[in-house]
Amino acid sequence: MQPLIDHARTFGQRPEEFARLAAGQSPEVLFITCSDSRVVPALITGARPGQLFELRTAGDIVPPYDSAHPSGEAATIEYAVEVLGVRDIVVCGHSHCGAVGALVRGDDLDAVPAVRDWLAGATPRPRGPAEDPCVAAAVQSHVLTQLLRLRSYPCVERRLAAGSLALHGWYYEVHTGAVLAHRPHSDTFTAL
Ligand code: ZN
Repeated sequence: MQPLIDHARTFGQRPEEFARLAAGQSPEVLFITCSDSRVVPALITGARPGQLFELRTAGDIVPPYDSAHPSGEAATIEYAVEVLGVRDIVVCGHSHCGAVGALVRGDDLDAVPAVRDWLAGATPRPRGPAEDPCVAAAVQSHVLTQLLRLRSYPCVERRLAAGSLALHGWYYEVHTGAVLAHRPHSDTFTAL
Protein backbone atom coordinates (compact mmCIF):
# COMPACT_ATOMS: atom_id res chain seq x y z
CA MET A 1 0.00 0.00 0.00
CA GLN A 2 2.76 2.50 0.87
CA PRO A 3 4.14 2.85 -2.68
CA LEU A 4 0.64 3.65 -3.86
CA ILE A 5 0.27 6.34 -1.20
CA ASP A 6 3.66 7.81 -2.08
CA HIS A 7 2.68 8.07 -5.73
CA ALA A 8 -0.69 9.62 -4.89
CA ARG A 9 1.07 12.31 -2.83
CA THR A 10 2.94 13.57 -5.87
CA PHE A 11 0.38 12.85 -8.57
CA GLY A 12 -1.31 16.25 -8.32
CA GLN A 13 1.86 18.25 -8.78
CA ARG A 14 1.02 19.05 -12.39
CA PRO A 15 -1.74 21.67 -12.05
CA GLU A 16 -1.44 22.71 -15.69
CA GLU A 17 -2.70 19.28 -16.77
CA PHE A 18 -5.55 19.00 -14.32
CA ALA A 19 -7.00 22.51 -14.06
CA ARG A 20 -9.04 22.17 -17.26
CA LEU A 21 -10.80 19.12 -15.84
CA ALA A 22 -12.72 21.34 -13.45
CA ALA A 23 -14.78 22.53 -16.41
CA GLY A 24 -16.32 19.08 -16.82
CA GLN A 25 -15.82 15.81 -18.62
CA SER A 26 -16.58 14.76 -22.16
CA PRO A 27 -15.15 11.27 -22.57
CA GLU A 28 -15.67 9.66 -25.95
CA VAL A 29 -15.60 6.10 -24.67
CA LEU A 30 -17.33 4.00 -22.05
CA PHE A 31 -14.86 1.26 -21.18
CA ILE A 32 -16.40 -1.77 -19.49
CA THR A 33 -14.05 -4.34 -18.09
CA CYS A 34 -13.36 -6.70 -15.22
CA SER A 35 -12.32 -5.53 -11.77
CA ASP A 36 -9.15 -7.60 -12.16
CA SER A 37 -6.08 -5.63 -11.04
CA ARG A 38 -4.09 -6.81 -14.05
CA VAL A 39 -6.34 -4.92 -16.42
CA VAL A 40 -5.55 -1.19 -16.38
CA PRO A 41 -7.58 0.57 -19.08
CA ALA A 42 -5.59 3.80 -18.97
CA LEU A 43 -2.32 1.90 -19.41
CA ILE A 44 -3.70 -0.24 -22.22
CA THR A 45 -5.14 2.69 -24.15
CA GLY A 46 -2.87 5.49 -23.06
CA ALA A 47 -5.92 7.45 -21.91
CA ARG A 48 -5.43 10.58 -19.84
CA PRO A 49 -7.84 11.90 -17.20
CA GLY A 50 -11.15 12.75 -18.85
CA GLN A 51 -10.87 10.35 -21.77
CA LEU A 52 -12.35 7.08 -20.48
CA PHE A 53 -15.58 6.64 -18.54
CA GLU A 54 -15.20 3.29 -16.82
CA LEU A 55 -17.45 0.55 -15.54
CA ARG A 56 -15.70 -2.30 -13.79
CA THR A 57 -17.53 -5.35 -12.58
CA ALA A 58 -16.56 -8.84 -11.50
CA GLY A 59 -16.12 -10.71 -14.77
CA ASP A 60 -17.04 -7.60 -16.81
CA ILE A 61 -20.64 -8.74 -16.60
CA VAL A 62 -23.25 -6.31 -17.89
CA PRO A 63 -26.54 -7.05 -16.16
CA PRO A 64 -29.58 -7.22 -18.44
CA TYR A 65 -31.59 -4.00 -18.45
CA ASP A 66 -34.28 -4.06 -15.78
CA SER A 67 -35.97 -0.77 -14.98
CA ALA A 68 -37.67 -2.33 -11.94
CA HIS A 69 -34.35 -3.00 -10.24
CA PRO A 70 -31.97 -0.04 -10.43
CA SER A 71 -28.30 -0.91 -10.36
CA GLY A 72 -25.04 0.96 -10.32
CA GLU A 73 -24.11 -0.74 -13.57
CA ALA A 74 -27.25 0.43 -15.35
CA ALA A 75 -26.85 3.94 -13.95
CA THR A 76 -23.27 4.12 -15.19
CA ILE A 77 -24.21 2.93 -18.67
CA GLU A 78 -27.19 5.26 -18.92
CA TYR A 79 -25.23 8.26 -17.71
CA ALA A 80 -22.42 7.59 -20.17
CA VAL A 81 -24.77 7.19 -23.11
CA GLU A 82 -27.47 9.77 -22.38
CA VAL A 83 -25.64 12.50 -20.50
CA LEU A 84 -22.02 12.25 -21.57
CA GLY A 85 -22.91 11.14 -25.07
CA VAL A 86 -20.05 8.68 -25.48
CA ARG A 87 -19.67 7.58 -29.08
CA ASP A 88 -18.14 4.16 -28.39
CA ILE A 89 -18.56 1.43 -25.79
CA VAL A 90 -15.80 -1.12 -25.35
CA VAL A 91 -16.39 -4.36 -23.47
CA CYS A 92 -12.95 -5.74 -22.67
CA GLY A 93 -12.59 -9.26 -21.35
CA HIS A 94 -9.22 -10.64 -20.37
CA SER A 95 -7.22 -13.82 -20.26
CA HIS A 96 -6.94 -15.78 -17.01
CA CYS A 97 -10.21 -14.21 -15.82
CA GLY A 98 -11.09 -15.73 -12.46
CA ALA A 99 -14.80 -15.11 -12.90
CA VAL A 100 -15.04 -16.68 -16.34
CA GLY A 101 -12.77 -19.53 -15.25
CA ALA A 102 -15.03 -20.27 -12.29
CA LEU A 103 -18.03 -20.39 -14.58
CA VAL A 104 -16.34 -22.65 -17.11
CA ARG A 105 -15.11 -25.03 -14.44
CA GLY A 106 -18.34 -24.90 -12.48
CA ASP A 107 -16.49 -24.00 -9.28
CA ASP A 108 -18.27 -24.25 -5.94
CA LEU A 109 -18.70 -20.62 -4.87
CA ASP A 110 -20.84 -21.15 -1.78
CA ALA A 111 -18.11 -19.61 0.38
CA VAL A 112 -18.50 -16.34 -1.53
CA PRO A 113 -22.26 -16.06 -1.97
CA ALA A 114 -22.21 -12.53 -3.39
CA VAL A 115 -19.79 -13.64 -6.10
CA ARG A 116 -21.81 -16.82 -6.68
CA ASP A 117 -25.06 -14.90 -7.09
CA TRP A 118 -23.50 -12.22 -9.30
CA LEU A 119 -21.93 -14.81 -11.60
CA ALA A 120 -25.21 -16.71 -11.72
CA GLY A 121 -26.44 -13.79 -13.80
CA ALA A 122 -23.89 -14.58 -16.47
CA THR A 123 -26.17 -16.38 -18.86
CA PRO A 124 -25.68 -18.00 -21.21
CA ARG A 125 -22.67 -19.40 -19.41
CA PRO A 126 -19.40 -18.83 -21.24
CA ARG A 127 -18.19 -22.01 -22.84
CA GLY A 128 -14.71 -23.14 -23.71
CA PRO A 129 -12.07 -25.65 -22.72
CA ALA A 130 -11.71 -25.55 -18.93
CA GLU A 131 -8.14 -26.79 -19.17
CA ASP A 132 -7.04 -23.63 -21.03
CA PRO A 133 -5.55 -21.35 -18.32
CA CYS A 134 -6.27 -18.34 -20.52
CA VAL A 135 -9.93 -19.36 -20.91
CA ALA A 136 -9.61 -17.43 -24.17
CA ALA A 137 -12.52 -18.96 -26.04
CA ALA A 138 -14.81 -18.66 -23.04
CA VAL A 139 -13.87 -15.04 -22.36
CA GLN A 140 -14.36 -14.09 -25.99
CA SER A 141 -17.84 -15.63 -26.13
CA HIS A 142 -18.57 -13.99 -22.79
CA VAL A 143 -17.63 -10.57 -24.20
CA LEU A 144 -20.07 -11.05 -27.07
CA THR A 145 -22.80 -11.91 -24.58
CA GLN A 146 -22.18 -8.63 -22.77
CA LEU A 147 -22.39 -6.70 -26.05
CA LEU A 148 -25.77 -8.29 -26.68
CA ARG A 149 -26.89 -7.32 -23.20
CA LEU A 150 -25.90 -3.73 -23.81
CA ARG A 151 -28.42 -3.72 -26.64
CA SER A 152 -31.17 -4.42 -24.09
CA TYR A 153 -30.63 -0.91 -22.70
CA PRO A 154 -33.11 1.44 -24.38
CA CYS A 155 -30.60 4.30 -24.46
CA VAL A 156 -28.02 2.09 -26.17
CA GLU A 157 -30.47 0.74 -28.72
CA ARG A 158 -31.68 4.25 -29.49
CA ARG A 159 -28.20 5.58 -30.13
CA LEU A 160 -27.26 2.51 -32.18
CA ALA A 161 -30.32 3.00 -34.34
CA ALA A 162 -29.35 6.63 -34.84
CA GLY A 163 -25.87 5.57 -35.90
CA SER A 164 -24.24 7.67 -33.21
CA LEU A 165 -22.86 4.86 -31.09
CA ALA A 166 -20.63 1.87 -31.81
CA LEU A 167 -19.99 -1.24 -29.72
CA HIS A 168 -16.62 -2.98 -29.57
CA GLY A 169 -15.58 -6.35 -28.12
CA TRP A 170 -11.98 -6.64 -26.95
CA TYR A 171 -9.93 -9.43 -25.45
CA TYR A 172 -6.83 -8.47 -23.47
CA GLU A 173 -4.00 -10.88 -22.71
CA VAL A 174 -2.68 -10.13 -19.23
CA HIS A 175 0.47 -12.16 -19.87
CA THR A 176 1.48 -10.42 -23.13
CA GLY A 177 -0.32 -7.09 -23.15
CA ALA A 178 -1.81 -7.90 -26.55
CA VAL A 179 -5.31 -6.69 -27.40
CA LEU A 180 -7.57 -8.54 -29.82
CA ALA A 181 -10.77 -7.09 -31.21
CA HIS A 182 -13.91 -8.86 -32.38
CA ARG A 183 -14.42 -8.61 -36.12
CA PRO A 184 -18.14 -8.96 -36.79
CA HIS A 185 -17.76 -9.88 -40.46
CA SER A 186 -15.67 -12.95 -39.63
CA ASP A 187 -16.91 -13.41 -36.05
CA THR A 188 -13.34 -13.80 -34.87
CA PHE A 189 -11.00 -11.95 -32.52
CA THR A 190 -7.88 -10.68 -34.23
CA ALA A 191 -5.08 -8.28 -33.31
CA LEU A 192 -6.28 -4.74 -32.80
ZN1 ZN B 1 -11.71 -11.03 -14.81
